[in-house]
Amino acid sequence: MTEFPMPMHKARVDTCCSFVQYSAMQYQQLRSIEFFREVDTEEKARQWLWQCRFDGKDFVCPDCEGEGFWQHRKQAEIRECELCQREVRLRAATVFGNSKVPILTWLRAIFLVMQDKRGVSALQLMRQLGLRSYRTAWRMLLRIRHALRQRDDRYILAGPVIELDGASFGRRETRNQSEVLVAIETKDWVNDRGKPKSRAGFAKVLVTEETKKNAQQFVTKAIKPGALVNTDGSQSLRNLAGIDSDYQVTDGDPTIIGRWLPWVHRFISNAKTWILGTHHGIDKKYLPAYIAEYTYRFNRRHDPNTLFHRALFACAQASHVNLPVLCA
Ligand SMILES: [Zn+2]
Repeated sequence: MTEFPMPMHKARVDTCCSFVQYSAMQYQQLRSIEFFREVDTEEKARQWLWQCRFDGKDFVCPDCEGEGFWQHRKQAEIRECELCQREVRLRAATVFGNSKVPILTWLRAIFLVMQDKRGVSALQLMRQLGLRSYRTAWRMLLRIRHALRQRDDRYILAGPVIELDGASFGRRETRNQSEVLVAIETKDWVNDRGKPKSRAGFAKVLVTEETKKNAQQFVTKAIKPGALVNTDGSQSLRNLAGIDSDYQVTDGDPTIIGRWLPWVHRFISNAKTWILGTHHGIDKKYLPAYIAEYTYRFNRRHDPNTLFHRALFACAQASHVNLPVLCA
């Protein structure tokens, strides 16, 4: 309870209990029909986003950590700490910063992107959300991908075994080809019937030329020191510092590849299919953003029903950057 007098231009807000049930922090399953029925107004969408920003709470002051707040009566996206008067804007320091798109539209966009394992194209998003501009839809997707990329950047691959390989996306004839480095954690185990099994863990991708220098930078940043890394023995991936590596020359033989680097090749093949299928090919300068979305979904494929909540949380927590930077 606040002991402060209520200013004329602001109103104290009771937390809306209906959101507790679908708290974004719970990462719970949510069917489309439930989501579109539950979040059907801009006000509800704003409340969801506030809770995402503050880890399930309605407000936490960035300065004094106080949880009491005033809701600005006229500007719905502003709250103020009742202890130190720090003003917090809903979109500030998130990927929604400087966007004129309503929060409700943003939430629906993130839901649509995460609901289907194939994602959505900008054209599909424009049509489904009733947006007037293709460019708006396209830019929204770019911002969402930026948030997903930031989230995955936090993780470091630990193994116990990691597959590492390079690949190229796009066509050289049209000068639209990019090289990527892909690393995936793998784990071998034996099931109850004594049958050997293999499982892929987290994946990390860097869009860069496959040179020794780039590979070293990638490994240093993405892989835990001392992890065992399997490669196909190409010169650029041999004798990298900080890791324990092993290789087999595959010479493109699918049998050897299937045994030695099965997950990384499956990942690359499926990513290419996704880019061609959902997006009908892309300009190479946007490949990092698209790959980030694909990788984010891959990394959480065992828990698809929580993807929306996780992605919304990532968007609410990601720092805002200018669009040209997103394309770099
Ligand atoms: Zn405060």
